[in-house]
Amino acid sequence: MRFLTAWLIIFGAVGSAFANAQETPRKQPNFVIILADDLGYGDLGCYGHPTIHTPNLGRMAAEGQKYTSAYVAASVCTPSRAGLLTGRLPVRSGMCSSKRRVLFPDSTGGLPASEITLAEALKPLGYITACIGKWHLGHLPPYLPTRHGFDFYFGLPYSNDMDNVSRKGREAILHPKIEYFNVPLLRNEQIIERPADQNTLTRRYTNEAISFIKTNKDRSFFLYFAHTFPHVPLFASDHFRGASRRGIYGDAVEELDWSVGQVLQTLRDEGLARDTLVIFTSDNGPWLTQDLHGGSAGLLRDGKGSTWEGGMREPFLVWWPGHVPAGRTVHDLISTLDLLPTLLTLAGGHPPADRDLDGYNVSSLFLGTGPSPRKVMFFYRGETLYAVRNGPYKAHFITENAYGSDRKRTEHHPPLLYNLDHDPSERFDISKEHPDVIAEIQKIAEKHRQTVKPVENQVEKRSRK
Ligand code: MG
Repeated sequence: MRFLTAWLIIFGAVGSAFANAQETPRKQPNFVIILADDLGYGDLGCYGHPTIHTPNLGRMAAEGQKYTSAYVAASVCTPSRAGLLTGRLPVRSGMCSSKRRVLFPDSTGGLPASEITLAEALKPLGYITACIGKWHLGHLPPYLPTRHGFDFYFGLPYSNDMDNVSRKGREAILHPKIEYFNVPLLRNEQIIERPADQNTLTRRYTNEAISFIKTNKDRSFFLYFAHTFPHVPLFASDHFRGASRRGIYGDAVEELDWSVGQVLQTLRDEGLARDTLVIFTSDNGPWLTQDLHGGSAGLLRDGKGSTWEGGMREPFLVWWPGHVPAGRTVHDLISTLDLLPTLLTLAGGHPPADRDLDGYNVSSLFLGTGPSPRKVMFFYRGETLYAVRNGPYKAHFITENAYGSDRKRTEHHPPLLYNLDHDPSERFDISKEHPDVIAEIQKIAEKHRQTVKPVENQVEKRSRK
């Protein structure tokens, strides 16, 4: 009997250890970052838009977190994406310029090989990686996603309004046809279609994303899904064209919303919802000079191209059932710069220690266990620091109109000062009442400037014709 008891205890212990091992495999989370292009703070139903119907993003917000103070690294495409993927302000990688603000088809530069992207950092941790959609960090072979840590690429290497061969200028944007824009569609490093059929882009991107998720459901994956729309020219597939009360801009956003729904439903169907952290945001604010073809920053001032709030504060949703608390609106500061250190930490790795990073690990904010470590946000235009936010206060050293020939670049002495908690629309300058706040922000700016070292500018490099 004693023997039997001993054997039962031993087998029981082994059995329960085995059972524990089975129950707690502690798989690394998968990551999906969905990035819209030029979508404004006010363009989603869950951020207050009255006529753009976005039920899938609304459900994502209800099942996860919705942020109200999430910032991108820059107010235009190229530098914003460089910041997101490297966790570093684009001024550190040479991926911004005040002369040419983004890369063009005649550009010869791109994200330097010395930069470490999120994909490159996740690969040694066992992740398979895909980039689907718009890249815009260099279209020549040394700069493509496949050379920056992505195992797979499907998408446009730059903006969908480039390669405008129509000779119609703005008219081509307002009444676009596929053949007006000779943009290439790439699979890995090969052009598979030119001009790309932009009507079907969102649908085809989505199919590729679903296929990537299903193919790699048994291993850790990172999907960087950067949509082409609602950047102009606006296209939508047959099912969505003409469907939105907001017109063609709404059609494009509603198709994007459908796409998000497809991705999340695939994760649910494959049993991956609790294993996958999904982020939704946009690369910069709405392109207001496109009139009805541009979006809305809601109550925020200005839009794309500007260091006012509308240029860089974005919708930002975080979804990870069972891990990210559901239904929370979060007012803490956060930035796409924080994604690299946060996701690396959640994957069990460490952010690169050999370089200046501008991102924070905000995993405790995502998990609902602590506040954001971020208190400060820097607002650059090209290589120049225009504004700094510290807590609720934002000081503008320089302001300038986003676009147009009369940009009215103004240096402010003292800086303009706004309390964004009281005044998110940046209407009432309170600099005279708060010299102490300005002094503190100036100190923060000075300390930051000392960490920025000169690097070769990548955006200004171009071929001579
Ligand atoms: Mg953009």
